[in-house]
Amino acid sequence: MIDSHIHLFQGNSGEYTWQLLQSFVEQAQRRGLSTVYLLEHSHQFYEFRDMYRPVADFNEYQRNWLARKMKISLVSYIRFIEQVKSYEIPLTVKFGLEICYIPETESLLQAILSQYKWDFVTGSVHYIDNWGFDHKAEFWNGVDVNRAYKRYYEIMLDLVRSKLFNGLAHPDSIRCFGYYPDYDLTETYINLAKALNEANMYAEQSGGLALNYGFAELGLNPQILSVFKDNGVRILTASDAHKPEHAGENISKLQALLTNDEDGKKHDPSKYWNELYVACGHNKPKYDRWLDKYESILQVSGKTPVIDLGCGFGNDTLYLHERGYQVISCDFSSEALNRLGAFIDQPVTRLFDMTAGLPFATASAKVVIADLSLHYFSWTETKKIIADIRRVLDQGGFLLARVNSVKDVNYGAGQGNVIEENYYCIGGDFKRFFDRTQLEELFVEWKIQYIDEYEMDRYRNNKVLWEIAVVRE
Ligand SMILES: [Zn+2]
Ligand SMILES: [Zn+2]
Repeated sequence: MIDSHIHLFQGNSGEYTWQLLQSFVEQAQRRGLSTVYLLEHSHQFYEFRDMYRPVADFNEYQRNWLARKMKISLVSYIRFIEQVKSYEIPLTVKFGLEICYIPETESLLQAILSQYKWDFVTGSVHYIDNWGFDHKAEFWNGVDVNRAYKRYYEIMLDLVRSKLFNGLAHPDSIRCFGYYPDYDLTETYINLAKALNEANMYAEQSGGLALNYGFAELGLNPQILSVFKDNGVRILTASDAHKPEHAGENISKLQALLTNDEDGKKHDPSKYWNELYVACGHNKPKYDRWLDKYESILQVSGKTPVIDLGCGFGNDTLYLHERGYQVISCDFSSEALNRLGAFIDQPVTRLFDMTAGLPFATASAKVVIADLSLHYFSWTETKKIIADIRRVLDQGGFLLARVNSVKDVNYGAGQGNVIEENYYCIGGDFKRFFDRTQLEELFVEWKIQYIDEYEMDRYRNNKVLWEIAVVRE
C-alpha cells in the first residue's frame, strides 16, 4: 500500500531531524505501507513568497495567515532530504512538495522547482481567484457556489495542463464545508480525467477531508471516482497526514474503496476468469511458438512432466502436448482446466492458487513454464511464488516465463489504482508490470540464461512483455 501525501510539516518548529522522519516511517510500517510520499506545503517556504503575493494581497486574514506559516527556507528541507537519503530506511520513501497552484505564477514556480530534483511534485487548488476557500466555513457565506465550483475546476485544469506536476492532490476538496453546486459535474470530471492522462499525472484518492475536516464519507466522491476509474486515471491513495501518528491513516480503507467490488466485497479474480473461459467456449487455442527455442531444455525434462503454471487458455499445454511432452496443467480457474479436455486427450490438471504454495514435492520438476501468469501478485506474493517454484525445481531445472512489461500501455501499464510500484488495480483486477531491475531482483538467486523484452502481436493490440529463462543452480 502507498500513502502518497504525508506532511512532515516542519514549518512551525523549523527543525528537521532523523527522529522526526523515523516517527513517520515507523507508523507507516505499523500500518503495512510499502511506500510513502513525504512532502511539505509550498506556503512554508520563503522562496515561494512572490508566488503567494496575490493571495496575501487578497485580505488581511490571508496576509497574517501566510506570515505565520512561511517560516523556513527550502534549503533546510533540501539539506535534510540529501542527508537522510543515505540512511537505511525500511520502506520506499519519496520526498516532494505540495504546491498551491496560483494561476499565472508558472514561470516563478518553474524557476523554484528546477533548482532541485524532486521525487515528485503534487499540485493542489487551495485558492479560487486568490480566495482561500478551505480556511473557515463562514467565509462561504454569500458565496456563489456554482461559480466557485466552476472556477475551482477551471484553475485545476490549468494546473494539470501546466505540466509542472506529477500528481493532483485532493481533487474534490472544494466540498470541505459541505457546499455543493446545483449543476452536474460529470463533464467537468471527464475533462479533468482526460487532461490528467494527457499530462501523465496521478490523482489522489484522498482521505484528507475525513482526517482534517471530520468528513463522514471517506475518499473522493463516488462520481469523480467512477469517472477517473472509467478513464483509466492513475490513482494513488493519500492520507493528507500532518503528524506522525496519522501517517497511513485510512489508507487500507481508501484502498478497499478502490479495489473492492461494487457490493463492497473483496474482489474474487477466479470468478472473472471462470466467466471468461466459459464465454470463449471450447475453441482450440492458437499458440505462438515462443517455446521453439527451448526445445533442448524441454527434452531434458524427459518423462518428468513439464509444469504449466497458470495454463489459462491452454496455449502452451497444447503446444507441449502436440510435441509429445508430458504436462501438468495448473490454474486457479476450474473452467480453464475443464476446457482443456475439449482439445487434449485426458489432460493432467491441478487446481490451485499459486499464492497458497505449489502442491508439488521438492526437486520434483525439471521444467516449469509460467506464461503470462506471474504478473497478478503483490511483490511479497510474487517473491514467495518464485521461491516455491525454485523449491519444486531440481538442480539445473528451468523456469521459462513471460510477464507484462512496464511498456505494455495497451494493456493497462500506468493506469488505474497504484497498489505498489508497477502493481495496479484496473477495473477490479490486479496486474503487475515488470522492468529489468525488478526481474533481476526477483531472480537474483537464479542464473539468467535468456532475457528479452519484445512486442507480441498475438492479441488485437500489440502487447509488450518480458521473456525470461532462468536456471535453478
Ligand atoms: Zn492540500
Ligand atoms: Zn496536503
